[in-house]
Amino acid sequence: MPQTTPKLNAFPVFMRVEGRPVVIVGGGEEALAKARLIAQSSADIRIVAEMVAPDLLAWIAANEVSHIAGPYETSRLEGAALVFAASGEEELDRRVVSDARRLGILVNAVDRPELCDFFTPALVNRAPVAIAVGTEGAGPVLAQMIRARIDWMLSPSLGSLASLAASLRGTAESLLPKGNARRRFWRDFFTGAPARAAEAGRVAEAHDKAIDLLLSGAKTGGHIALVGAGPGAEDLLTLRAQRLLMEADAILYDALVPEPVVAMGRRDAERISVGKRKGCHSKTQAEINALLVRLGRAGKRVVRLKSGDPLVFGRAGEEMAALRDAGISYEVVPGVTAAFAAAADFELPLTLRGITSSMVFTTGHDLKGSTLPDWARLAVSGATVAVYMGRSVAAEVAERLIAAGLSPDTAVAVVENASLSGRRRFHGTLADLPSLEQRIDLSGPVMTIIGDAVAGANFAGSEPLAGRRSAMPTSVGTMPTDA
Ligand code: SAH
Repeated sequence: MPQTTPKLNAFPVFMRVEGRPVVIVGGGEEALAKARLIAQSSADIRIVAEMVAPDLLAWIAANEVSHIAGPYETSRLEGAALVFAASGEEELDRRVVSDARRLGILVNAVDRPELCDFFTPALVNRAPVAIAVGTEGAGPVLAQMIRARIDWMLSPSLGSLASLAASLRGTAESLLPKGNARRRFWRDFFTGAPARAAEAGRVAEAHDKAIDLLLSGAKTGGHIALVGAGPGAEDLLTLRAQRLLMEADAILYDALVPEPVVAMGRRDAERISVGKRKGCHSKTQAEINALLVRLGRAGKRVVRLKSGDPLVFGRAGEEMAALRDAGISYEVVPGVTAAFAAAADFELPLTLRGITSSMVFTTGHDLKGSTLPDWARLAVSGATVAVYMGRSVAAEVAERLIAAGLSPDTAVAVVENASLSGRRRFHGTLADLPSLEQRIDLSGPVMTIIGDAVAGANFAGSEPLAGRRSAMPTSVGTMPTDA
């Protein structure tokens, strides 16, 4: 037997309600919920209720909708596009339903699916774009869950972009031949420069970019997004990063970006590993810059994925300079930097009221010279220090900080593979830190955090750094709470 798709018993349509009356009979919570839903449209809402709850009354006043404060009569429904029986009184709701049907008006009775001509959807509103989710009354919670997922997938600016598209449709049809050229124009319109301008709230610029696109026969320049991939966990990617990944023609990624994050990109996108793991550079920085410029010139939409935040030890400065020099459009999308992910894994306050109010991002690789770098002085005066790429210089960092006057008892937290399921956490003191260099059991990226605020972390379940039982740093209970 051929497999058939189950049939819908309620078919979704979009009903024109602009300026037309929608009557809600009822004065309580249910009436308010329906009124709020319908108020997302330009319908003329009329609430019929003798007694009205204070919340609904306040809403009616704030939204300037009409309230008919008399008893219900059939005549209240005349001319309505839709009717809601939301009184909560069974007898009255039934009467409203039968009156509406007699007048040929579609009616919905709240919480009584058997009396409904139609169901109301969970709604994602990006007017003029609407996504309505229906379950034929099977599960309002399910509908809301789906609604929430769709809502975060779609840019908040989609509505203004869609309105702009509607205003340009005629022009596009007259300038571009039907078929590929027109399709390509709309694809570039919805993902290229006009979309980016709309996303930033610059509607006039979006319009100008769209006109440029139309006049150039929809041949756009490329665009490079320098995107922070976060510390490794897929769900620490930003929504913007995910959206750009879905639209990318090419994805360039560093060795530290895990495969599942790269895999979130568009299926047919070109994926290019540009390596950069310590000691084995698969491409030089100059080669990466040149590749970005080449892809940009070829009109590609490129996502340059960097671990953590692209502007923190990510060589973004060099890539941006190359793109600027070549006149290629680019943007930067921030990500969760490793220090923040490591701090979260340790429940470690990076600033702590009364203890420390500044923090330093450093590599430790600048300790080679004879003068103490500024950050070491900041550490001595109480800043929290996050050391990136610090495993191979752990001994030097500890020695120099102690020589500069920082107590060997200062608390230290180390996280390998922060945010990832295989993460490991270590605690100890500055005196223990040199042992990090000898730990051959650590193969993932390692973040070291040093400072008095580290003592406010939750050390439960973490391992001693030096391999022996080192004293736990000052107990959390004695620390003031962070503001
Ligand atoms: N741009 C990145 C840093 C790149 S430098 C960011 O903002 O996080 C690479 C260093 O970052 C690694 O040597 C390590 O110190 C740190 N790092 C990156 N991911 C990490 C992770 N998941 N856990 C711990 N440290 C990490």
